Amino acid sequence: MRLPWIDSPFFPVGYLPPMKKYIFVTGGVCSSLGKGIAAASVGSLLEARGLVVRMVKIDPYINVDAGTMSPYQHGEVFVTDDGAETDLDLGNYSRFTNSTLSRQNSITTGQIYQEVIQREREGRYLGRTVQVVPHITDRINQRILGIGEADDVDVTIVEVGGTVGDIESIPFLEAARQLIHEVGHEHALSIHLTLIPQVAGDELKTKPTQHSVNKMREIGIQPDILLCRAPREIDNDMRRKIALFTNVHFDSVISAHDVVKTIYEIPLSYQRQKVDEIVVKRLGLEVGLGDISPWERYVHTFTTSERVVRIGMVGKYIELADSYKSVDEALIHAGVANGVRTEIVKIDSEQLESREDWESVLENLDGILVPGGFGTRGILGMVKTAEFARCKGIPYLGICLGMQIMVIEWGRSVLGWVDANSSEFAPDCKFPVVSLLEEQVDVKNYGGTMRLGLSDSYLLEGTRIRDIYQAPLASERHRHRYEVSNKYRPDLESSGLLITATTKDGALVESVQWPDHPWGIGVQYHPEFLSKPLKAHPLFRDFIRASASP
Ligand code: GLN
Repeated sequence: MRLPWIDSPFFPVGYLPPMKKYIFVTGGVCSSLGKGIAAASVGSLLEARGLVVRMVKIDPYINVDAGTMSPYQHGEVFVTDDGAETDLDLGNYSRFTNSTLSRQNSITTGQIYQEVIQREREGRYLGRTVQVVPHITDRINQRILGIGEADDVDVTIVEVGGTVGDIESIPFLEAARQLIHEVGHEHALSIHLTLIPQVAGDELKTKPTQHSVNKMREIGIQPDILLCRAPREIDNDMRRKIALFTNVHFDSVISAHDVVKTIYEIPLSYQRQKVDEIVVKRLGLEVGLGDISPWERYVHTFTTSERVVRIGMVGKYIELADSYKSVDEALIHAGVANGVRTEIVKIDSEQLESREDWESVLENLDGILVPGGFGTRGILGMVKTAEFARCKGIPYLGICLGMQIMVIEWGRSVLGWVDANSSEFAPDCKFPVVSLLEEQVDVKNYGGTMRLGLSDSYLLEGTRIRDIYQAPLASERHRHRYEVSNKYRPDLESSGLLITATTKDGALVESVQWPDHPWGIGVQYHPEFLSKPLKAHPLFRDFIRASASP
């Protein structure tokens, strides 16, 4: 979309922009306070009031996207329908809200500079000196307005990653300041998430929050609402003190204390403190009260389910809590949908390889999941795990790499091809049952050469997966480079492995199923990206159902 004033900074005199609303969510004191979840929770409350919300994430790093970043650095890479490889906060947005999410909703410093430099090379700045202000800041706001000014949108929530005071986020905060100023305070507001730490003697301290708000004010943004992260609820005296020092209204100093059991309590906690009411009043939005009963029901089922289902997740990026964020969440949603509590046991596949007693690690699990991954490390441990689950009849869900592992294990154990492998891990192996498509073999560039984003899988009749989806077609997101090799497909099938879904032309395998097994399914795509707490994904739901059955 091209707006009439898109090349000017940004509204020409006399032009009245449509009255769309903007909320900037910033963070102070330190990172990892849960800004993404806070922003998404505000979004969910506004949606509950019938507003159309869009979520935007700004990441101040120079990478163009998160695609080439290690999960160790960055947690999971969240993939959108259009195949953008984005920050995991987009996953939070997708679970808490119905905001459409695409490449446009994830902005990085790298993208902004790339776009500005490209325009400069094209001579579009007409000989002017290209500078951070106004050119970078204008470009940032053009990106934000490009989403927020769309006809159907009411409110755009922009989460500025990083912490105020970081060098990297300065241009983004300056852009936010300008945008708030331009559209006016009745159309834009600032929510600042900050920390109230607990020090010796259980005392909660407000000083870091005072400093953080001062920092915001130095930049020229007076926060309208403070979300105060604290280990326990902050009382009215403390809220009054914070209000006094920060110039924020008492009612708008919100206790964002740690929730007891699930992150999906956060919208409820905010609603109790009237965050949505403050936002709609402040922005002059005339909407009715929100219906948050679906969230209440979810939290109620989650907190009252007693039956525990233990799912072993065997992967290689296990140490870092966020590496498989969407998979974790999808398992939990599926638990709630079945009225049980999913307990996820994370197992490092590499450690499994070196342990004599590895089988004991996999005992007492109700189900096993092998998630996606890249690179050789830990593969043997995953193959052993698949063999264990197949032979012992334990429900097994293989996602992407986890499905490829099923095929490798089948080649080795059933077909007796000791050297069966993926050419990703052993380029010269004798039986590359998983390999690159021929036309891909010469690709050397690792950025953006994968099969990415939404595409259709055709689910074959009479298969379990077709029953699960109750449809002949599944549209799911992909993120992978290697495929089940067509050369070995006849052998795999004639030896009994069921190929249960393919692309439309039948050329690529999308799903496999173990024969004579209670529940052994692998999918080449990533169903986890489409699971929502209020709408558990059918594949995960059925996997948990099978794992919960005696
Ligand atoms: N490494 C495998 C591939 O590229 C699997 C990728 C994944 O699990 N996301 O095909």
